[in-house]
Amino acid sequence: MELIDGNHIAAAIAAELKAEIAAAPGRKPCIALVRVGEDPASVSYVKKKEKTAAEIGAVSRVILPPVTISQAELFALIDSLNADATVDGILVQSPLPKHIDEVAVFRRVAPEKDVDGFNTVNLGKVAQEDETGFVACTPAGIMELLRRSGVDLKGKHVVVLGRSLIVGKPVALLALQKRAGANGTVTICHSGTANLPVFTRSADVLIAAIGRPEFVTADMVKPGAVVIDVGINRVADASKKTGYKLVGDVHFESVAPLCAKITPVPGGVGPMTVAMLLQNTVKAWRGRGVR
Ligand code: NDP
Repeated sequence: MELIDGNHIAAAIAAELKAEIAAAPGRKPCIALVRVGEDPASVSYVKKKEKTAAEIGAVSRVILPPVTISQAELFALIDSLNADATVDGILVQSPLPKHIDEVAVFRRVAPEKDVDGFNTVNLGKVAQEDETGFVACTPAGIMELLRRSGVDLKGKHVVVLGRSLIVGKPVALLALQKRAGANGTVTICHSGTANLPVFTRSADVLIAAIGRPEFVTADMVKPGAVVIDVGINRVADASKKTGYKLVGDVHFESVAPLCAKITPVPGGVGPMTVAMLLQNTVKAWRGRGVR
């Protein structure tokens, strides 16, 4: 079994971006990070994005509206960032409070600044295999992990657990694309799927993104499979200072010995999501003719 080290691969990508930014004269790439309210997971994700942006020499502008912000006020904030020539990328951290329509917010971000890749235009470009758009960060990170680990999806059965707009659907579309490294035969499973283990056991590459702690067990995995665990779940653990530990959607201990390759949690897909966000921000910056 080989561990796919997301920290290592993400660090290599960050180093490439840092070198590109350092070599460019003039204004550095700038990402606006909008976090509404104080959701603890969002607080830590935005901090990590801010820190990694600084490490590669990009500028981040963190905007922290209160949880009571109205949808109209959030739209006005996004409009002002869309119009701001010094901002290359905009990320509105999910989840948003219940009174705000999250998809409407994603649509409000200008497609050319939508470094999160959730705008309708950019999701459409993934379906059209148009590389001028921005691919959503977690799905892009999964594809990059596979590519840099030497996993070619051509001729493989790729089973995606979960059909969210953020992970499941776009990663399935990417795996399906008719291009080098992809070209997989893709099955998407969800909460309405009957006989789920029949599908998971036939997967050459299993991508688990359901948000259920340690759901995928050894009996659900084909020996020799590649397993990508997207899940980040907090479960109570009194032995930790925080009172919780992070586990994936895969029961790592029992599944790992069976696999050809597997991502750990933490340290697998998570760091790649941040790396892809910065890669998209640099792409937006380049695209705006700054250099
Ligand atoms: P969502 O809750 O939006 O979607 C979950 C999907 O899983 C849904 O399609 C749901 O089906 C399906 N599902 C839920 N339970 C089951 C089940 N028992 N059997 C089969 N399918 C099921 O989650 P996200 O896609 O946003 O996130 C998934 C996980 O990935 C979470 O743990 C999240 O924290 C993590 N994540 C990690 C990221 C990273 O950077 N590593 C980034 C984003 C997410 P249905 O559609 O029928 O409801």
